[in-house]
Amino acid sequence: MHKTTHDAGMLTEAAAAQAAGDDAEAWRRRDLAVLWHPCTQMREHPDTLPLLPIARGEGPWLVGRDGHRYLDAISSWWTNLFGHAEPRIAAAIARQATTLEHVILAGCSHAPAVELAERLLAIAPREPGREPLTKVFYADNGSAGVEVALKMAFHWFRNRGVEGRTKFIALDNGYHGETLGALAVGDIPLYRRVYAPLLAEALFAPSPDAYQCEPGETPADRARRAAGTLGELLQRHADEVCALILEPRVQCAGGMRMHDPLYLKLVRELCDAHGVFLIADEIAVGFGRTGTMFASEQSGVQPDLLCLSKGLTGGSMPLAAVLATQSIYDGFLDDSREKAFLHSHSYTGNPLACAAALATLDIFASDGVIARNRVTSQRMADLAAAFADHPHVADVRQAGMIVAFELTRNGDKRTPFDSAARIGLRAYRAALDRGVLLRPLGDVLYWMPPYCIDDDALQLLAATTRAAMDHAIEEAACA
Ligand code: PMP
Repeated sequence: MHKTTHDAGMLTEAAAAQAAGDDAEAWRRRDLAVLWHPCTQMREHPDTLPLLPIARGEGPWLVGRDGHRYLDAISSWWTNLFGHAEPRIAAAIARQATTLEHVILAGCSHAPAVELAERLLAIAPREPGREPLTKVFYADNGSAGVEVALKMAFHWFRNRGVEGRTKFIALDNGYHGETLGALAVGDIPLYRRVYAPLLAEALFAPSPDAYQCEPGETPADRARRAAGTLGELLQRHADEVCALILEPRVQCAGGMRMHDPLYLKLVRELCDAHGVFLIADEIAVGFGRTGTMFASEQSGVQPDLLCLSKGLTGGSMPLAAVLATQSIYDGFLDDSREKAFLHSHSYTGNPLACAAALATLDIFASDGVIARNRVTSQRMADLAAAFADHPHVADVRQAGMIVAFELTRNGDKRTPFDSAARIGLRAYRAALDRGVLLRPLGDVLYWMPPYCIDDDALQLLAATTRAAMDHAIEEAACA
């Protein structure tokens, strides 16, 4: 009798797994019949690149339609902070949805937009003796936020009758989004090269990337050297430049390359000396990701324009905010409409997104997130330390809640794998098979989990990362 029940249980389980597998497969087919996915060579679906239909999210976990759970180790493109379907954020969105879902923000105002602006300005980086950030302009995604900041910097000089400052300085290996303006100040060849003929000319300065230190050079030395070259560039071109844009502390899309906070401090001094605006793109590194609320704080620097998105809503709704100084704002006040900043998106300051962002800031305040992250990031450091002696791991680096592993081909730890070996893709597939959603950047595997990740999940992440990298390297060797 007992045996029969047991067998029946097994059968039911097997049948359920089969049904879930069929359901996932059906969704895969429906999807590929109609969707064109972002950042994807569609030809690789579904054979080379598995497509993962997700039914729901739960804390740091994604639950697949196949019935398996997948750890979201990259916070769904670096957006998620407190887990999926976070009840407090969900409730805030639901409340707002039955009050005011959207209203045009040109000529109208609403409480969530005002309150969010007040609260963002209150926590924004501040530097003694520098005029604070006092105004917020909303957009609806990171790239659009970058466009806003670039256009504001350029337009400000125009409004003062300065016609020659038409260029931007950006950093080698930087990334600021996919729209044409953002691509023009980006330096990731894979995204940029094909569109190069369409892009405005920008000036590029060396990245302060500590991975590129010469033997005997410290990250701070490297920061000084990169700033030295930037200084020379500014000497030659300052009167053509309106702003410099960079990602403080970590060049994320560029392979989680990290630099010494000293660099931003030196950049701030150079921008001041040459009358160039400093735009900090904290779209990926803001909201506690690198250990402080904003990465600029680690350098004691306040930018003139600060771009925020991704974690701004805890990963729940698209929203961007650009914070500006009063002088920048004042530079647009005039009798002429042309001197106004006419940039607009239909969903500017969407109330649902602002409500989600307010709930996110409430969680920061009530849950002691930054302090708790210090404990979590120390645990991540302990687990990552075990990778240092791996024969193919050239570098283990960390900034708060980001850990990255640079994989290289051989013992000198500087020879990259042939890109045709597709190490990252192989690691991606191997990790998925083991229940972890990693999405390597080339040969860089990284952890950027939701802050609510617990110790068991971290251990699974570390073990799976190791298994995935070993599997990828072995598989590539056999291919
Ligand atoms: N800036 C940085 C630093 C980013 O990492 C990203 C997105 N990865 C963007 C801008 C663009 O944001 P979005 O994808 O929302 O357009």
